[in-house]
Amino acid sequence: MSEAVAETVAARFSELYGAEPHGVWAAPGRVNLIGEHTDYNDGFVMPFALPHTAVAAVSRREDGVLRLHSADVAGGVAELRLDDLSPESDKNWTAYPAGVVWALREAGHAVTGADIHLSSTVPSGAGLSSSAALEVVVALALNDLFSLGLRGWKLARLCQRAENVYVGAPVGIMDQTASACCEAGHALFLDTRDLSQKQIPFDLAAEGMRLLVVDTQVKHSHSEGEYGKRRAGCEKGAALLGVNALRDVPYDDLDAALSRLGDEEEVRRLVRHIVTENERVERVVSLLESGDDTRAIGPILVEGHASLRDDFRISCPELDLVVDTALASGAVGARMTGGGFGGSAIVLVEEPDVDAITKAVTEAFATAGFTTPRVFEAVPSAGARRLH
Ligand code: ADP
Ligand code: MG
Repeated sequence: MSEAVAETVAARFSELYGAEPHGVWAAPGRVNLIGEHTDYNDGFVMPFALPHTAVAAVSRREDGVLRLHSADVAGGVAELRLDDLSPESDKNWTAYPAGVVWALREAGHAVTGADIHLSSTVPSGAGLSSSAALEVVVALALNDLFSLGLRGWKLARLCQRAENVYVGAPVGIMDQTASACCEAGHALFLDTRDLSQKQIPFDLAAEGMRLLVVDTQVKHSHSEGEYGKRRAGCEKGAALLGVNALRDVPYDDLDAALSRLGDEEEVRRLVRHIVTENERVERVVSLLESGDDTRAIGPILVEGHASLRDDFRISCPELDLVVDTALASGAVGARMTGGGFGGSAIVLVEEPDVDAITKAVTEAFATAGFTTPRVFEAVPSAGARRLH
């Protein structure tokens, strides 16, 4: 499958640029199993890679020119000069790959130019990290072509910097690390404080289970401002509690911490979500590592959703409808995933129930007058890699 994709992308590259690419790379989107909004609180996350990838055919150049093209965006080849790249100057999709080149050069890596053609199957803006897939695939290609010696979290950090500084989006480190580091058949337990990581076996099919992603196809327009408010609220909570980050509030001390926050009701809710969410990640890790029945993680996912809905308050009617309908139709667990206010939910189901639950959710959306959701199965897949 990936061989055919690599050939198609390489062929289009040749048409655009008049020569074969020096190589073809892929980097996946991700879905977060548990650990939401913890990544900017130095906490724990647990994403796994999707089979959906951004694929890039790339050749190196020596003349300080960067040419960019995406199969998925209208418009021709964009041509930029490396010396002209400057943060937040570009509001188009080209800011993601250009930002990676900028971040690499800022970090002292001798990147002298490139021709890039991209094509992605990661749904854009669905909370599945199409942006990180784009960044990581470009970073890995340039790493290989310029022999930069960057791997894993180092690559991810540079991609995060590209998105934070060049694109101007205040995202955490989870998405890029997931895209760069995940392994097939595993979820990635990541400590976002020191970036230590552990691959946790997550082979649902072997247990007769499936994980569905339900992309609600909505993105409520206030989401970015609300993200900033949550981040600021978490920082305020940490400051009021005298810790570096909410990660440092032990679960066992939660009640005491909440009472110290007095009448700061908004901050109390945010703190409660982050502290309990970190504990949920740890519980899921120990359940999966123990080799016990994976179904036991279902109720933890549901608890996580309730916390995001009621305490962190970033759910929306569409996400709640997915979760409520799936659970009422026999799902083992379900929760919203990603930043919130739209995007996607995940649903853990017994294999024989896949069709009935998909139908129930789709019908509930029709009845509510919502946009038809996109439902697909997510098999924990490989991280970024060279295809060709
Ligand atoms: P998410 O990462 O959740 O999909 P973002 O808003 O972070 O959502 O990133 C989406 C943006 O990434 C798009 O608006 C576009 O600029 C860029 N992008 C994603 N996929 C592609 C693609 N295949 N080609 C060009 N740009 C893309
Ligand atoms: Mg993104």
